[in-house]
Amino acid sequence: DIEIPESHPRYLSLLTRHRIEEGVEKGITSKQGLIAEGRGEAFDYLLGEETIPSADAAERAAAAQLLLAEHPVLSVNGNVAALVPGEMVELAEAVGADLEVNLFNRTDERIDAIVSHLRDHGADAVKGQTADGRIPNLDHERAKVDADGIGSADVVLVPLEDGDRAEALAAMGKVEIVVDLNPMSRSAQSAAIPIIDNIVRAIPNVTEHARELEGTSREELEAIVEDFDREAALAEAEKAIRGGELA
Ligand code: ATP
Ligand code: MG
Repeated sequence: DIEIPESHPRYLSLLTRHRIEEGVEKGITSKQGLIAEGRGEAFDYLLGEETIPSADAAERAAAAQLLLAEHPVLSVNGNVAALVPGEMVELAEAVGADLEVNLFNRTDERIDAIVSHLRDHGADAVKGQTADGRIPNLDHERAKVDADGIGSADVVLVPLEDGDRAEALAAMGKVEIVVDLNPMSRSAQSAAIPIIDNIVRAIPNVTEHARELEGTSREELEAIVEDFDREAALAEAEKAIRGGELA
């Protein structure tokens, strides 16, 4: 294990990069995942590596939406499993959601490795190995989901999802919450609630909001979701990335 001093100015970025590297070594993260990490880091750098106010608002709306859901499912891919395995388990517990492993480049080996990894981080049941459901309008391998997981979910949280699949899930009528550092990506653009933030900051903050909102009435939760303005959140993030006033 490498030692990264916490005082290093790029501590979080180095730690994140190291976790992705380890994920690849363990067979959890794909090589494509390394490229995705690089893209994410560039956007995070431009955002100032912080949760901007519009992202915090999205994270609160996401918490409210997950608490309102009948059957919420949190999707986990190789980067998510490498970066925030324990945090995803905690969020699932806080909002009563299922966890489902869902991969863009699906192999049974990688699915199994991620399921065990999540179990090591405290998950009991993890979906994704049955793959008896299909997302319409996607080619065979990419379409696979569990029928009793994402297949029948009303609200899905899909962090770092590929644009095509994000669009196909939204087209199925699911309320989609996306975590993606690029506000211009098709994934973020197709989400009902786009969270433009690093997943390492976003997931713990959604959990914190969910805990704060516990016991809040449905009416109030619905108002939080309705007050969230997705267009404004996307525009705010893009403005922050492009350099605020200079844009
Ligand atoms: P599009 O959505 O426009 O089709 P894409 O899906 O082809 O783009 P990828 O590189 O496959 O783009 O997706 C990776 C996405 O995940 C990028 O938008 C990147 O910003 C984002 N990303 C990577 N790491 C993180 C992270 N730690 N937290 C949040 N988002 C991240
Ligand atoms: Mg994308």
